[in-house]
Amino acid sequence: MTTSRVESKRTRLVQSARHSSDWNGALNAPLMRASTILFDRLDEYEVRPDRSSRKPSYGIAGTTTHFAFQEALAELEGAADAITLSSGLAANTVALQAFVNQGDHILVTDSIYYPARRFCDKILKRQGVETTYYDPTIGAGIEALIRPNTKLIYMETPGSLTFEMQDVPAIVAAARKHGVRTALDNTWATPLFYRPLEQGVDVSIQAGTKYIGGHGDLMLGYIAANEASFRAVYDMALFHGHCCGPEEAYQGLRGLRSMGARLDQHQRGALAVARWLQERPEVDRVLYPALPEDPGHALWKRDFDGATGLLGIVLAKPYEHRAVEAMIESYKYFGIGASWGSFASLVVSGYPERHQTARRWEATGPLLRYHIGLEDPDDLINDLTAGFERLEQANKG
Ligand SMILES: *Cc1c(COP(=O)(O)O)cnc(C)c1O
Repeated sequence: MTTSRVESKRTRLVQSARHSSDWNGALNAPLMRASTILFDRLDEYEVRPDRSSRKPSYGIAGTTTHFAFQEALAELEGAADAITLSSGLAANTVALQAFVNQGDHILVTDSIYYPARRFCDKILKRQGVETTYYDPTIGAGIEALIRPNTKLIYMETPGSLTFEMQDVPAIVAAARKHGVRTALDNTWATPLFYRPLEQGVDVSIQAGTKYIGGHGDLMLGYIAANEASFRAVYDMALFHGHCCGPEEAYQGLRGLRSMGARLDQHQRGALAVARWLQERPEVDRVLYPALPEDPGHALWKRDFDGATGLLGIVLAKPYEHRAVEAMIESYKYFGIGASWGSFASLVVSGYPERHQTARRWEATGPLLRYHIGLEDPDDLINDLTAGFERLEQANKG
């Protein structure tokens, strides 16, 4: 008797989309550079291969390298298919535009990645699509915001600056009841730690620039979608002429293979640093859903398989800006920079009150966002300790 055995997602990260016998024995998918594809016969050219055949037919439609990467992504997400794009932002904007027409309405989380919010306010608005921003903690209450012309609910959980968790199944249930499509930017968790399609979300968006690339040197995005939603996303990407280069697809698939090991270390480091930060008098709140004290912890525990390296802190006092500068400009390990997800530790300041409209940002002091890289957490804690000493000293001085 055979028993069914479900391989873990970590194993699938390593094993998925490996076709060495098609690749002359090579372990990794070959880097196939091609814009011109030649055909033996005219009728083969005239009836181009369908996407499902995974045969290269025209530059923008992808090469062997893209198809291997997309196959691995679709499997990981539990999606019908996935398309790869030149950036995470392109993945956001294509997904936002794919399901709307003039006169439609969309519901977007107030915590959305800011450049995607700008796209709603500048481009979708000009095209006659109205956006309402909702409080990310709204849950089932979202039903009251759904209008007859609402076509899409766009989530991000946790928000990558303010870290609110969303009750995705409750939002999906309300959306389904009214025939509204759902999409979710899953960059913080990656599909290793959270799979939106398993909770009924139609479209999952990822900035592959972050943890999938993992080395701070790649621009990449993808959209994975279920059967009912993939075609609209795919068509919108091709209407715009979006794609990603074969080198980026190659590096993305290579990054995926080691992502499980990297994320385990990011998680260990971030949890150690977060717990330490909670005890510091300079810190009012640590924004990290893996902490039991975080308001989103119960949702995180229910829905996610892990936490990554990005967290926020709210300082306990309205420290002067020059004191914050003194703290962060002299860190030994934390660089000042925004695009997180690599081996490197980073810090930036954040100002949610400048953009959020659905929810008032209340804070005792400045918000700082840290990315916990792959350094030894003890060294990072020493660096942070010295920083807090500079902060207090400069604030007094
Ligand atoms: C970084 C990021 C993006 C954009 O990714 P790029 O590849 O830099 O364009 C989108 N969404 C979230 C949540 C991000 O963190």
